[in-house]
Amino acid sequence: KAGQVGSARGEEVYLVGGAVRDLLLRNHNLDIDLVIEGQGIPFARELAAQFPGCRIRGHEKFGTAVILFEDNFKIDVATARHEYYARPGALPTVETSSIKRDLFRRDFTMNTLAISLNTRTIGHLIDFFGGSRDIKERIIRVLHNLAFVEDPTRILRAVRFSSRFGFAIGKHTLNLMKAAIRMKLFDKVEGKRLLNELIHMLEEKNPLSPLTLMDGYGIPQALHPALNFTPKTMELVESTIGVLSWWKYLFMKDQIDSWSVYFLALTDNLSDGDFKSVVERFSIVGDLGRHMASERILVRQALALFARGIIEKPSEIYSVLRNLSLETLLFMMAKTMREETRMAISEYIINYRYVKPLLTGKDLIRMGYEPGPIFAPILRTLKQASLDREVLTRSEAEDLVRR
Ligand code: ATP
Repeated sequence: KAGQVGSARGEEVYLVGGAVRDLLLRNHNLDIDLVIEGQGIPFARELAAQFPGCRIRGHEKFGTAVILFEDNFKIDVATARHEYYARPGALPTVETSSIKRDLFRRDFTMNTLAISLNTRTIGHLIDFFGGSRDIKERIIRVLHNLAFVEDPTRILRAVRFSSRFGFAIGKHTLNLMKAAIRMKLFDKVEGKRLLNELIHMLEEKNPLSPLTLMDGYGIPQALHPALNFTPKTMELVESTIGVLSWWKYLFMKDQIDSWSVYFLALTDNLSDGDFKSVVERFSIVGDLGRHMASERILVRQALALFARGIIEKPSEIYSVLRNLSLETLLFMMAKTMREETRMAISEYIINYRYVKPLLTGKDLIRMGYEPGPIFAPILRTLKQASLDREVLTRSEAEDLVRR
């Protein structure tokens, strides 16, 4: 359809980036990125009109649009603008192929492939920079010497792709990368962009592998001098992987940010002051940053209470854990060495957090009580009694209230 719309509009349409790379690697990829030599936004509007029920969001400034389908499938559309360059000496102006320039701006040769979708040329593979050879040889190569200087986040992308696909980083590319790390080029990058790439890394199937590679190149210290992935950090990451797969197979409806569980693991060995500084470096500002810093302290306190063996009853477990986010609870499960603590947290996640008192405020009014500040402690006591299975029926609960 995209090719037909493009051909009818007289514009060239290309499938580009990860989708083409993954097609050559025979990997599954649901991200569709299109580049239009022409007008991306009107093209996207026409394409979207062919699919009832989809929505479109355009960014006029960048000439990009996203077509969103009901089942979460999406197509990104970008515009490769025609630009005319005058040759020195005022000779006639020449036009460089705009798709070529678009692809030249990309990170690695393996991501510079395009497939023509127009009716006439459909399926034609466009490879200006040797991308298919590098994919065949399983090598990650930059397009030019300034690639990491232009954008140091490509260092993190190289590590992520290298570990995901088992590709080697080309010799020259590796030298450029090491030089960029030594030259502290990360210092020039906005925290948000670093965080974004780190999140991508932590959302890989097995984040231990890119994190180990990253450590081998001294990247953690280059991102922030306090970051230090010790063998203990890596053990904690491994145990976090286990806890997160346990969580996944619970099939609970809560959405969690798994990256933040890993982030807590990677920064567990930092002092509170260093943690704050790392959080600031990655621009985790506002509520999330404050929340992470304060929960980190609560984790230590809660684990110390569990270690003393004084938290046993479900209601006690509930009161220690009730203010912690799911991400923090999962991190605690990964961090603790005590099986009893891990069991207690898992019971809290699966059961205790859903327990309600057997009576509500309305029931108390029906029983003849005046609404007032006394309701809160009564309902709390009822909830504790339910958690500890001391009362099992409403009439037992009413007896407890009267007592
Ligand atoms: P993934 O499978 O992880 O989504 P992807 O290659 O699709 O991999 P994206 O981050 O979605 O990665 O980026 C889409 C395309 O945009 C890439 O194929 C790459 O060509 C280009 N790109 C992304 N980030 C950069 C960057 N920092 N520098 C240059 N090109 C980039």
